[in-house]
Amino acid sequence: MIITEIFRSIQGESTHAGLPCIFVRLTGCNLRCTWCDTAYAFHGGTKMSIEDILARVEDLSAVAKDGESTKETSARAISLVELTGGEPLLQPDAIPLAKRLLDGGYTVLIETSGERSIAQLPREVIKIVDVKCPDSGEPDTFHMENLDVIGDRDEIKFVISSRRDYEFARDFTRKHGLLERVHQVLFSPVHADPEGTWPGMSARDVAEWILADGLPVRLGLQLHKFIWHPATRGV
Ligand code: SF4
Repeated sequence: MIITEIFRSIQGESTHAGLPCIFVRLTGCNLRCTWCDTAYAFHGGTKMSIEDILARVEDLSAVAKDGESTKETSARAISLVELTGGEPLLQPDAIPLAKRLLDGGYTVLIETSGERSIAQLPREVIKIVDVKCPDSGEPDTFHMENLDVIGDRDEIKFVISSRRDYEFARDFTRKHGLLERVHQVLFSPVHADPEGTWPGMSARDVAEWILADGLPVRLGLQLHKFIWHPATRGV
């Protein structure tokens, strides 16, 4: 597998937001969202076997004890792992990796663009599936069959950069009965690029639109961008 980075941080943008989590960032993406904040994962990366990745995750999950770490499952400090990218489902080995992590007792999340099929992933993997809005630059890329396999533990996320995006997300949510299909629907305002490449979306505007429409979705703010500088990698 080709991996950009493996690191510990705080889960930032799902119903698991705020929890310590180990992130495995897979290299490569076939989309080019206008506000993508992980373009550094498009190319490069390091070749790693599934065994290498599991060993690294195990190291990062362990509780430090007098300068040494213990690898006993019961003593893990972190048992939440997220596969992300890039687009993790471009690499076929993402599926066996997810299975091995589940077998190892981890809770496994995957963040995916929604363009790839999620059907081969084990049901126990919690899928956080994007639906790209019109102003993402990648509209109409959602793999509609994903609606047939997404489950009541999973989450659908819209990243919102305009009123037009908001209306698309609201109408898609209603038209496809997303609130009945999944555990949570997330509306995430775009965080401004610190170098000014793309503007931010006002979280307050999105919050007020959600309230005005009486929409029971969750406003998602990217916690890690408030904790650390928004351009910081590996957090
Ligand atoms: S799908 Fe994700 S990684 Fe790919 S371009 Fe869009 S935001 Fe970036």
